[in-house]
Amino acid sequence: MNRPDIAEQQFPCGALYMVATPIGNLADITLRALKCLEMVDAIAAEDTRLTRRLLDHFNITKPCFAAHRHNEEEVAQQIVARLQAGERIAFLSDAGTPAISDPGARLAAAAHAAGLRVIPIPGVSAVTTALSAAGLPEGPFYFAGFLPAKRGECDSTLATLAGVAAHLVFYEAPHRILDTIDALARQFGANRRVVIARELTKLFESVQVMPLGEARAWLEQDSNRQRGEFVIVIEAGGHVDLPQQRAEEILARLLPLLSLREAVDLATEITGAQRKTLYAHALQLKNKPSKD
Ligand code: SAM
Repeated sequence: MNRPDIAEQQFPCGALYMVATPIGNLADITLRALKCLEMVDAIAAEDTRLTRRLLDHFNITKPCFAAHRHNEEEVAQQIVARLQAGERIAFLSDAGTPAISDPGARLAAAAHAAGLRVIPIPGVSAVTTALSAAGLPEGPFYFAGFLPAKRGECDSTLATLAGVAAHLVFYEAPHRILDTIDALARQFGANRRVVIARELTKLFESVQVMPLGEARAWLEQDSNRQRGEFVIVIEAGGHVDLPQQRAEEILARLLPLLSLREAVDLATEITGAQRKTLYAHALQLKNKPSKD
């Protein structure tokens, strides 16, 4: 690459390069990533076949070796030894940014532990790509990655997340998208806005914003809407988290006016406290003998 801005880039020896790659559209690779891949001595890849395809596309020939979840610990030591000998090694996950719901973190940790440099070569990640097009009010977000597949674990994870005052971002696979939307609607209610970002940067990209209560019907309207890769964003609840004691006081005032369930739902929404905890407290209050 002959661009002067790229020619000036420094790629120190004895460093591990965490290189972000496209999540669909190959043109999203950065100039610095391409130059880095040309400069390194070898490439550690989550899947060498996928990475070779990417390298072929950009006419880059480099030795590749596997570094995936199952051998990350062991390969980390080999990488450290090569870095100590002064080599430059790049790590690439299958798509997007390494260590974001992907391997890479253990390699970086091993390099840090050996006092070696870990240099990020930033680029695309599905989480930031989805947020950039979601149109939700600017503010904090919480990246939760994939939810547990088992219903009980999924519900309790969501109950914990309900107390987080931020947009919640999830990754999801097509075969679980309907179950996940149901679980989200159970936890956050029909009115909370959801963003369903599908096939980002690809041919059938879509970013849809709707109330959670409408999401299942929208997905079922056309089976193509359930295909591909998904990022789901739940809009922040707009609540300010209150101390637990205040949440319980509010709950106690709502209980005589509403059904137990309605009181717990409303108190959860107002206070940002955990629904499960408030529910247990409501049962306790109901079962308490009255003073009269
Ligand atoms: N490291 C990647 C990143 O930085 O986004 C994530 C890897 S994770 C194993 C794969 C998940 O990311 C997919 O199941 C999907 O939820 C999300 N994802 C990846 N590419 C996507 C795309 N083009 N559109 C929507 N979601 C995508």
